[in-house]
Amino acid sequence: MKKQNKIILGLTGGLGSGKTTVARIFKSLGAQVIDADKLAHACLKKGSNVYQKIISVFGTRILLSNSNIDRKKLGSIVFNNCKMLRKLNSIIHPEVIRMMTDDISSSRARVVVLDVPLLIEAGLEKIADKIVVVNASRANQVERVFRKSKIKREEILKRIRCQMPLSKKAKLADFVIDNNGGLKETRRQVKQIWRRMWKS
Ligand code: ATP
Repeated sequence: MKKQNKIILGLTGGLGSGKTTVARIFKSLGAQVIDADKLAHACLKKGSNVYQKIISVFGTRILLSNSNIDRKKLGSIVFNNCKMLRKLNSIIHPEVIRMMTDDISSSRARVVVLDVPLLIEAGLEKIADKIVVVNASRANQVERVFRKSKIKREEILKRIRCQMPLSKKAKLADFVIDNNGGLKETRRQVKQIWRRMWKS
């Protein structure tokens, strides 16, 4: 992609590490951001292929009275069972990847940021020119997600434990952002990546 004067940045990191915050800073510098979570929500739409497959695996117990998928219920099942979470991801990921590649090819931005929590787990690092991993301590992850969502702390920890350890992700990274400090410090690191990413 870089050859065509375009850079695809794969942005990833653990739950509540600060991906959206970092993506927002990249956007303020001129990047287009593609948010995998938003695409994943869109592909759960009633009647879609993904919708049908999810019902065939999880049953109609995960439906609301209006037949839409109850994402809270689905979450409570999969976050208590990493195997079921992997199953759910194997249904959703191919569709999200399809939507994402369409969005990338139609984008006219010079820098496209893919905000994908499971970038590496989904094999999406292959379509990125550079990988950016956002890192935050587990204590900060739990505290920030708790403040944002009010999900119980032990529930947050369960979700974090289902994810690939950050240390493993960081090994594949071209850039690692330490988001343990204040936003000013994070902004400084993002700007540094913005300057450096064309050079290598
Ligand atoms: P998720 O995995 O839930 O999608 P995320 O990785 O996208 O989360 P954010 O939503 O960016 O993470 O950040 C989680 C919360 O922590 C947000 O409320 C955000 O405002 C806050 N936050 C992010 N970075 C910092 C920081 N450096 N200092 C203080 N608060 C922060």
